[in-house]
Amino acid sequence: MYKLTVIPGDGIGPEVMEAALHILDASEIDFDYETANAGNECFKRTGSTIPQETISTSKKSDATLFGAVTTVPGQKSGIITLRKEMDLYVNLRPVKSYEGTPYLFKGLDFVIVRENTEGLYSGVEEYTEDGADALRVVTRMASERICRFAFEYARKNMRNKVTAVHKANVLKKTDGIFRDVFYDVARGYNDIKSEDFYVDATAMYLITRPHSFDVMVTTNLFGDILSDEGAGLVGGLGLIPSANIGDNNGLFEPVHGSAPDIAGKEIANPSAMILSTCMMLDYLGETEEAQKLEKALTDVLREGKVVTPDLGGSASTMEMADRVKKIFEIL
Ligand code: NAD
Repeated sequence: MYKLTVIPGDGIGPEVMEAALHILDASEIDFDYETANAGNECFKRTGSTIPQETISTSKKSDATLFGAVTTVPGQKSGIITLRKEMDLYVNLRPVKSYEGTPYLFKGLDFVIVRENTEGLYSGVEEYTEDGADALRVVTRMASERICRFAFEYARKNMRNKVTAVHKANVLKKTDGIFRDVFYDVARGYNDIKSEDFYVDATAMYLITRPHSFDVMVTTNLFGDILSDEGAGLVGGLGLIPSANIGDNNGLFEPVHGSAPDIAGKEIANPSAMILSTCMMLDYLGETEEAQKLEKALTDVLREGKVVTPDLGGSASTMEMADRVKKIFEIL
């Protein structure tokens, strides 16, 4: 029996979470859920976007499923705080085109490994006389563990190449360290090809030759931007899952936010949340169950009959989830 923390959050967060849990009910694996609070509604009730109780519950569980939260300007981001508190230093974002979805390129399948704890998101910002400064933190320790994770991931998942993405020609010290550490780590993985590109060139290559990528590893801000570009390549935010992984914990969440423009209409695409659940099953070592769930979703996407409006259908979030559940049950 796995102990899961479930954080539905705000907007469409609870809607896509309900859909994912509806499907997970049909799994042969037993889960014990504990629901915890985070986000703007939580802030209105408790004065905190991420109460200490939520952090403690998450830390104690085998894995956390996170929906999405609304972040109001000036508020402390609940999800960024949680990632930091749990030292979830890897943000893993697969970019895969599924048949039946509005992708720009057929057959894409690469993974972005983003450093999740420092870079320009270290949170060290201050006002100056005429503006503000932000500190870009790059340590050898964090660069080493993220690059090592990327190579280990490549090896475990039969991938052939890891590409480091940086801007070391301008950010000579911070990204100079990142690039040097990448090649130090690469020396221990002779079976996997390594290469590096500047981030601006990479943004172009993602459009001109996206099939050439396999595993990409990069710093926090570049990873955030490139993974949204990746989302654009394969049909939009409703389809992109992510995993936040540390040495002792894993948190799984769709890349999208709380989507206030469609919240309450029951038309949110549950795919990103379902694929995040697949990533959680994989993390827990339940690889066969993860593959079964991904196949059930893939079948529904390919059929294209019971899908949400963003995919050209007219099904509600729960109707689509129910169709996935029915297929999952018989696989
Ligand atoms: P968003 O991802 O919420 O929405 C962007 C667009 O994509 C919207 O048009 C939305 O309708 C659409 N979309 C998103 N998910 C969808 C889905 N599952 N199905 C169909 N369409 C979907 O980004 P935003 O509008 O920039 O941000 C809204 C709020 O979410 C903000 O408060 C932001 O801070 C927050 N946010 C939270 C997270 C998180 O919780 N990890 C991530 C990003 C943004």
